[in-house]
Order: sequence, then C-alpha cells, then structure tokens
Amino acid sequence: MSKELKILISFMVFSLFLWGIGNSSMAFFIKNHKPIDDGKSSINMFAMDTYISVTAYGGQSGVALKKVESKIRELESLWSVTNVKSEIYTVNHHEGRAVSISSITAQIIRFSLQMAEQTSGALDLTIYPIVTSWGFTTGNYKVPSSEEIEQRLKYVGYEKIKLQEDKIQLPEGVQIDLGAVAKGYICDIVADILHDDGITSALIDLGGNIKVIGTKPNGNEWKIGIKAPERDGYLGTVEIVDSSIVTSGRYERCFRGADGKQYWHIMNPRTGKPAESGIVSVSVIGKESKLCDALSTALFVMGLEKATQYWRKYGDFEFVLLTDRNELYITAGLENKFSLHEDYRTMQVNIIPK
Ligand code: ADP
Ligand code: MG
Repeated sequence: MSKELKILISFMVFSLFLWGIGNSSMAFFIKNHKPIDDGKSSINMFAMDTYISVTAYGGQSGVALKKVESKIRELESLWSVTNVKSEIYTVNHHEGRAVSISSITAQIIRFSLQMAEQTSGALDLTIYPIVTSWGFTTGNYKVPSSEEIEQRLKYVGYEKIKLQEDKIQLPEGVQIDLGAVAKGYICDIVADILHDDGITSALIDLGGNIKVIGTKPNGNEWKIGIKAPERDGYLGTVEIVDSSIVTSGRYERCFRGADGKQYWHIMNPRTGKPAESGIVSVSVIGKESKLCDALSTALFVMGLEKATQYWRKYGDFEFVLLTDRNELYITAGLENKFSLHEDYRTMQVNIIPK
C-alpha cells in the first residue's frame, strides 16, 4: 500500500471515530464546500503533509470556509521547509545574510523563540539540521552516526537566531523548522477567521491538531478522542468548549532502525536524538492552539516530572500523558472532563494535583 493511501485510510478511521462522537454524517468526508444541512458547511483538504477538515455552523459558513482554505494555502506556502519558494526556505538558504520576512512569519518565529526560552530549549526551532539527518523530512529514515549528530548539533540553539522586527539572520548552517508549532498557529488563525464571520460553532482539525469554537450546535460540549497508541481506536475523550487539544506521540512518524530500536520524530535538542523521556504521548488542552502545539512537543521532550513542574508554574493549560509503563496521568483541571474509553476501563487514571 502506498504511503499516501495508508495516511488517507488512517485519517478516515480517525475522523470516523471523532465524527462518530460529534455527529453522524458521512457526507462530511465526501463533499467539499457544500452545505450539508442548514447553516453547516465543511471543507476537506490536504496541506502541510496532513489531512485537514473544518466544519462550521451558523453565520456565512460557506463563505468563511473559502477564506479559510485560501489562508491555509497561503501560510503553507510561506512556512514549508521543503518548498523552494517559501520564506522559511529562503531564510534557511541565505548563507548568513539577513533576510526580510513578512510580519506574520516574524510573528510565528517570535512566538517560537519565546516558547523555546520558556521551555529552556525543550522546544527549539533550530532543530532542523538534526531532523533532516534522521531522514524525517524526506521519509528516507536512517540512524546517523554519533559524529554526524555531534557535527550537526553545532548548528542547534535558538539563541543563535537574530530577529529584529521583520528581519532575520541565521549564522551559516543554522536552519529553522516551524513543524512543531505551525499547525497550532494556523488553527488559531482559522478560528479567528470563522469567529469574525459570525460562526458560533465549529470543529477545526489539522491532522489531529484540534480547535473548537463554542459548543456543538446542540449545546453539548465537543468530545474529542485521544488516539490509542500503536493501534486503532482511542484511549479516552476530553470534553472541551472554545479550546484546543494537540497531541504529540511517539507512534507518529517513526521507524525501526537496523538495530531493532524504534525511533520517532520528536527530538531532544540537547542530544540530537529522539527524546527518550518515557512518554508515549502527551495531549495538551488550552485556549490557544499555538500554545498547545508548542507545549505538546516541549512536554514530550521534558518527561513527566519536568512537565508537571512546568504546568504548576505556568498553569494556563492541562495535559493527558501516557508513559511507556502504561501509566496514565491527567492534570487536576481535567478531572471531570476526561473519560477513559471502554477498552481501557481497567486503567488507573492518576490525577496530578496543583
Ligand atoms: P506533529 O508534527 O506530529 O504534529 P509535533 O507538533 O510534536 O508533532 O512536531 C514535531 C515536528 O517538529 C517534527 O517533525 C520536527 O520537524 C519538529 N521537531 C522535532 N523535535 C522538535 C523540538 N524539540 N523542538 C522543535 N521542533 C521539533
Ligand atoms: Mg507540537
């Protein structure tokens, strides 16, 4: 089976269970830009190497979704690391010279730098040379030699970036990747467009990076599934209103090396290797999707203990975390919002107190 077909099938399975929870309409997958019933419109598209679906109710939902689609295309063409015409590509191939960038690109880089600082470098947008050396950009996976990793680590470190207003300068060899924050950032922009167009209820799904506007049209909270690791189905659900949920898991984009070990796409910027923090997946729930996206990656790198400390310090988000010892942790604010799926009903849910 081709990689695209596999991705398409898993997307459909994932959407099915999500949608099974939210609504029962199959037309959601098939129709594009077509109102399914009164006041409801949806789009499905492939962008940023992922399947995207947005469903909106109320207001001018069809018109709003057209704007959403072109905004996603516009931001993808600015922020793709591989498209030679993107701003990020230009920044990454400017051999030490300063480059002028659009203000939206400067904003997302500024946000990534703030998060890098706040997470003590667990999130680091200069990780790109390492990500490419493991083959995660192309899918030609390999385990690099320790010499290669050491060599590339010289170019990693967010403090090497000079950003002044809309001008950026990277030392030669330093390259950036917005992969850990772009989907969340775009999710917030999409939600703002829908909101400004009078949409009162919507589900935005950028490849599992989810944000909802309001409640479901019937007034109930949205129930969002958290994927079960290494198999179909889900671990549990979280009920949210006007919030986002983003998951980073080690079962996404991973490969088995010739040594029989499993390697995944979330890197520890200190070691230049996949983060071995004992976390299988971590889902972050909060108001802003960009924060959830940045933190899902960063908390994954930190591990349970540091993630808990970080949550106690900053606290404007909650998380659900599964360890490689099959222990499940949720933060106190989710106590009445999280439910285990039936298949996992014997699992113990550990609540992390404030
Ligand atoms: P996904 O892309 O599956 O949603 P993440 O949001 O966790 O998952 O982002 C992972 C991507 O971010 C990787 O594919 C890589 O491009 C980049 N990345 C990996 N590790 C880090 C890190 N520590 N800091 C910043 N970006 C990272
Ligand atoms: Mg992320």
